Amino acid sequence: KPLVFSGIQPTGNLHLGNYLGAIQKFVALQDTQDCIFCVVDLHALTAQLVQEDLAQQTREIAAAYLAAGIDPKRHIVFNQAAVPGHSELAWIFNCVARIGWMTRMTQFKDKAGKDRENASLGLLAYPSLMAADILLYRATHVPVGDDQKQHLELTRDIATKFNHDFSARIEAKGLGVPMAMGDETVNGYFPLAEPLIEGPATRVMSLKDGSKKMSKSDPSDLSRINLTDDDETIAKKIRKAKTDPDALPSEPAGLAGRPEADNLVGIYAALSGRSKADILTEFGGRPFSEFKPALADLAVDKLAPIAGDMRRVLSDPAEIDRTLKDGAERARALADRTLADVKSILGLLG
Ligand code: ATP
Ligand code: MG
Repeated sequence: KPLVFSGIQPTGNLHLGNYLGAIQKFVALQDTQDCIFCVVDLHALTAQLVQEDLAQQTREIAAAYLAAGIDPKRHIVFNQAAVPGHSELAWIFNCVARIGWMTRMTQFKDKAGKDRENASLGLLAYPSLMAADILLYRATHVPVGDDQKQHLELTRDIATKFNHDFSARIEAKGLGVPMAMGDETVNGYFPLAEPLIEGPATRVMSLKDGSKKMSKSDPSDLSRINLTDDDETIAKKIRKAKTDPDALPSEPAGLAGRPEADNLVGIYAALSGRSKADILTEFGGRPFSEFKPALADLAVDKLAPIAGDMRRVLSDPAEIDRTLKDGAERARALADRTLADVKSILGLLG
């Protein structure tokens, strides 16, 4: 049965990339799919152990989910640390995954920087916890930005190795379903979760550098549009966004080799639900001095109501905590079933 799972880390200000790459897609999927949306607070510890106010950051991500329109009654909204199964399954996956799989990850290389020996062990094992997040619910579809594609592949590698190594026991216990894996068919317990990465803004780039993705953790605030920026700040950041001096091309092929232009056109397309080609039919031949104000108006139209709703939701932190707790209880019930199966497959008592 299809099940959608995704998460966002409480590592700082939510930005337009998180909105277009993740949250906007969550909202669209909830109409047709069963969904679990998590605030992955344990992941936040990988980059920085001592956090300014992790509890508040966690509530802010939850508030963004709710403000964007996710229905926590029909779906599950919770924070990762409230369901211990994430950590338990991650440990088991640490023993399934190989060290080489982890050191190959580009996010690890980027975030660890030059002093890799000094990065936290958690940062290296991050994809193993992410695989546990998804597979604890045996989720089948994971809406994410393009930057998470590699981690989703690793999730499938973990599921494949687990299914393969334990195929006989999975079959003996009647816990699996036949799955095609390469040339052979094995009795698989974990599904091979598919990433959902589509549309014109799967990788929103920094407004200051068209070669870097927009990130919560980028030290420059001008590099991103935060969901909570006011109208003037949004307009200012778009006005100051790096561009080349040429006018906009009249078709998408003309965006090749112009990463900043491509980025802004992609943002416009995703915010308006139109294609890049359609946007360029309208704006082709016009200078950025005309395109940027139109983009700023559109961004304000889309984001201001969400920011307003976020403030309203955040004014009642106790209610957010109740929503998260209710979601965690429902998540735990699902997680406990998976963990019981996994322990029985491995031969772990208890
Ligand atoms: P950090 O810098 O702390 O890693 P982040 O901005 O990358 O923060 P995450 O919590 O790691 O945010 O990711 C949450 C979701 O947002 C993921 O699905 C991720 O792929 C997506 N996402 C993050 N940045 C972008 C971006 N620039 N464009 C599109 N999607 C993005
Ligand atoms: Mg990230």
